[in-house]
Amino acid sequence: MGANEALNTQASGQGFDVARVRSDFPILDVRVNGKHLAYFDNGASAQVPTQVINRLSRYHESEHSNIHRGVHYLSEMATAAYEQARSRLKKFINAAEDREVIFTRGTTNTINLVAQGFGRAFVGAGDEIIVSQMEHHSNIVPWQMLCEEKGATLRVIPMDDSGQLLLDEYQKMLNSRTRLVAVTHVSNVLGTVNPVREMIELAHAQGTPVLLDGAQGVPHMRVDVQDLDCDFYAFSGHKMCGPTGIGVLYGKAELLEKMQPYEGGGSMILSVSFEKTTYAAIPDKFEAGTPPIAAAIGLGEAAEYLESIGMDAITSYEDELLGYATDALSGIDGVRIFGNASDKASVLSFNIEGVHAHDVGTILNDEGVAVRAGHHCAQPLMKRLGVPATVRASLYLYNTTEEVDQLAGAIRRVQQIFG
Ligand code: PMP
Repeated sequence: MGANEALNTQASGQGFDVARVRSDFPILDVRVNGKHLAYFDNGASAQVPTQVINRLSRYHESEHSNIHRGVHYLSEMATAAYEQARSRLKKFINAAEDREVIFTRGTTNTINLVAQGFGRAFVGAGDEIIVSQMEHHSNIVPWQMLCEEKGATLRVIPMDDSGQLLLDEYQKMLNSRTRLVAVTHVSNVLGTVNPVREMIELAHAQGTPVLLDGAQGVPHMRVDVQDLDCDFYAFSGHKMCGPTGIGVLYGKAELLEKMQPYEGGGSMILSVSFEKTTYAAIPDKFEAGTPPIAAAIGLGEAAEYLESIGMDAITSYEDELLGYATDALSGIDGVRIFGNASDKASVLSFNIEGVHAHDVGTILNDEGVAVRAGHHCAQPLMKRLGVPATVRASLYLYNTTEEVDQLAGAIRRVQQIFG
């Protein structure tokens, strides 16, 4: 039995049948330059299964209307489907209550919501906010903007060369001025799974709440927000087999209730007069205007889809695939892999000696392999790594060992061309 067969057999032995999973994703049959498409750009956006596509169609064919305010049949249908999606997501991340799930436009929008809603209420001059060296710009810039506005300071947890945060330094940084810790659950460049439980405990010992950027966490592993005891958790629908334009803010109810609204407008009010406006209770307080109703319903379906396969099965399949890919790429002379944390998830960043990442990406595309090349919205991390860009292959539940072989073959092709 070849290595490929062994992995796929083993994985199916755990109840994971990758061929069956692939059949749910019609787009994977698209051919690129006459070649099999090996889609490794999942960290940017994952593909959407038939179940979600069908749910979106059904909504548009028979349930579409605006929600909440309507008294007619379709509005009731749409409202019920939207609120059912909220309940599905609550279950997916094990939130304590539906009202702790706020629909947003995505992770970036979620973090801006917290930066403004929490920041306006709780951050002042001289206060500190802690982020880490490996954050996506979405978990840096909103905090910088807040710090500038309030006269607060942004502090940065350093990391070692393997891509692991220095917890001693983090611990030293926490003090009575720290108002919030905002760190990524999983790095979108290095794949590092941060020791967030320990980091949350340390912050809570100081009375400091913690926001986790879960954009690369929730799609790949079981996330239980109560077990983690995080105060906020941010994620996007399009990285977990859902539609674009939708994301989630999970927040502990007691904190959300104390926060200021982010946007003002329809649906987020209790009463409005020119003298005084009062706000609706959560979650409505943070969902001003008409929300992305269809996308929210699609995201609820995506969560059901992932659960029907099983998050633990997905994690263990991806772990094996990552191991296979790491072996395959480290076996090629001239390939440098970035990030080898002891706890690492489904991301493989690398460079080929003497070839710019963008050129690598272009030639891989000629070979049917879709990757991302660039700074991955993590310029401070690139600076720490000492490179302008990397190539990133990010794996997901429908990728196979054959596709990893295709990637390795395409890398050899790049080397031939530039050799
Ligand atoms: N944080 C991380 C770790 C990410 O990987 C991404 C997406 N690349 C984001 C935040 C931003 O997500 P979105 O573009 O969906 O807002």
